[in-house]
Amino acid sequence: MVAQQALSTVDNLKTRGFHMANRCCLCQHQEETHVHLFFNCSYTNQVWSSILQWMKISRPSKNLKQELSYFDVGGTKWRMYWFHISLAATVYQVCLGRNRHIFRGECKRLDAIINKIKFVAAIRILMINHRARLSLVLDALNS
Ligand SMILES: [Zn+2]
Repeated sequence: MVAQQALSTVDNLKTRGFHMANRCCLCQHQEETHVHLFFNCSYTNQVWSSILQWMKISRPSKNLKQELSYFDVGGTKWRMYWFHISLAATVYQVCLGRNRHIFRGECKRLDAIINKIKFVAAIRILMINHRARLSLVLDALNS
């Protein structure tokens, strides 16, 4: 749904006739649109930038469409798995955090969501049998 920009962001709901204030609940500064949420928002941009740094990718974050078509992480096939698994985990945790903020009033700390993404990505990497990289993943989790 995220890749197809089919999430029920405020701008999408407005096009379907819902009338509501449009303010991003994560940064409180700009209107919530799909492009803003992934990753123009200062909050989600910090999350994704931290994950890029964790993956030792030294470039600024891009928008989701550009990130989904990014295939030049350098190195091995394993690094591509790491990148795409981490991107999927980031998108999922951003959506989850946004929904919990809207519907439950919960606001997760930035470091908590980043650590959750790292944990989920590391577990998924290990599940697809990349045991040779276990030490790298564990080192990254401890960074
Ligand atoms: Zn925002």
